Amino acid sequence: MAKVILENVCKIYPGGVKAVDNANLEINDQEFMVFVGPSGCGKSTTLRMIAGLEEISSGKISIDGRIVNDVPPKDRDIAMVFQNYALYPHMTVYKNMAFGLMLRKYPKAEIDQRVREAAQILGITDEQLERKPKALSGGQRQRVAVGRAIVRKPKAFLFDEPLSNLDAKMRVQMRAEISKLHSRLNSTMIYVTHDQVEAMTMGDRIVVMKDGLIQQVAEPIDLYDNPKNMFVAGFIGSPPMNFFKGVIEQRSGGLWFAESGKGFAIRVNDDMAGKLTGHVGKAVVFGIRPEDINEKALASFAKPDQTMNATVEVVEPMGAEVYIYLTSGTHNFTARVNGHQRATVGQKLEMAFDMKKCHFFDGATEQVVV
Ligand code: ADP
Repeated sequence: MAKVILENVCKIYPGGVKAVDNANLEINDQEFMVFVGPSGCGKSTTLRMIAGLEEISSGKISIDGRIVNDVPPKDRDIAMVFQNYALYPHMTVYKNMAFGLMLRKYPKAEIDQRVREAAQILGITDEQLERKPKALSGGQRQRVAVGRAIVRKPKAFLFDEPLSNLDAKMRVQMRAEISKLHSRLNSTMIYVTHDQVEAMTMGDRIVVMKDGLIQQVAEPIDLYDNPKNMFVAGFIGSPPMNFFKGVIEQRSGGLWFAESGKGFAIRVNDDMAGKLTGHVGKAVVFGIRPEDINEKALASFAKPDQTMNATVEVVEPMGAEVYIYLTSGTHNFTARVNGHQRATVGQKLEMAFDMKKCHFFDGATEQVVV
């Protein structure tokens, strides 16, 4: 169990790539912290610096109050689980799990007890313990890789995209198993993924990264409801938030969002208008999530001056809900509605926008305004 602190941490690879740019972060004891972002944003590098597998170019990392910049990985008391499992092919599952403890010269009886306890937690059978990794499915191999980490009873677990090589169904199952494991072991877990669904479902908090920079650190629902910038707003949530570029205009009756020359205009709610007065005449981006758009006739939130006429382009029934892809002039946007609603391709609909739920971003900085 451990608190992990990053202070002004930078990583510049030979050749000049700034993979991590001045990261500041406190990961609490027993917290499940997820790093998420597109490929190349610096999440693995950050994790590998915490593990000690990558040197820090500048800054400080501490684990449990001890600065570990110069501490070799084996002495940091953390365990890492990799995407490719990194099991020893010539050893049995038992030996794979026991090996780290054998190297550390633990008594045989204690090793046996720890391996069997970990196997029991993870549902690895006695018979599987005697097999070689190649005789296991992907999900079983990943369990062994996790088991090998558990037996060490480390201060913190680090996971680098551990589920990426599994099929969709096994990924969902292992996701739940790792979450359960976290509740059971009560240890600090730091988890890297490019998959925002994994991040949302597993994390106590989520760190969103882009181009080596931490964009936002927050609890999943806070990230979803209160994104700090357009990147976070667009990255978290599926289908993604809809964006429209335009300006804020002062009209009779209040503020409006309007697109220059293209005709689409929508009235801003009065309680949001106060925060937008400084942006009158300036470029903004209007963002609204697909679930906050619905047919006017069916939307409890429908208000005059807050609709858009659009044509249905694609309908994707998902069971519980339907994604309706719409087009209006040069816009494409998505509505996410109840699974029993009907829409047909080519149909013209008046779509209402729930303006209580929308966001406005500064057109230049892309930071949220309200
Ligand atoms: P992520 O895990 O988010 O996909 P990485 O941390 O692996 O991102 O990489 C961040 C950036 O650092 C990328 O631009 C990547 O190409 C670069 N990078 C990663 N490892 C090395 C390395 N060993 N040498 C040089 N550049 C690297």
